[in-house]
Amino acid sequence: MSDTETFEVMKSDAEWREQLSQGQYHVLRKRGTESPGWSPLNPEHRDGTYACAGCGLPLFTSDTKYDSHSGWPSFFAPLDDAVGTTTDTTHGMTRTEVHCRRCGGHLGHVFTDGPKPTGLRYCMNGVALAFTPK
Ligand code: FE
Repeated sequence: MSDTETFEVMKSDAEWREQLSQGQYHVLRKRGTESPGWSPLNPEHRDGTYACAGCGLPLFTSDTKYDSHSGWPSFFAPLDDAVGTTTDTTHGMTRTEVHCRRCGGHLGHVFTDGPKPTGLRYCMNGVALAFTPK
């Protein structure tokens, strides 16, 4: 997510600030990270859909959620055409940043230590997700 990139849903900084909670704004718009173990979605095991807290696009379902014990809600795959990725070299690491395909909101990172069948771990900030049980 850069300031020059264009997304389907685009809002001014002031509009995002108005719409989002402080925590949502910090993560989605400022690439922040919530404290590990903070999210009520960590122990969420019901069937349902996880949407972007910024624009409402469905991103993950409970079918791909698993307990990574990382402190953040984790999934082994996103829904089709739901997320985009960029290379993140901040904090002295090279990581793959994950954002919402529609609004560009930062969601978390993806790592290659996930379970089968993908081997991927989408390590998501719970505050960036809105869960709707089935
Ligand atoms: Fe979004």
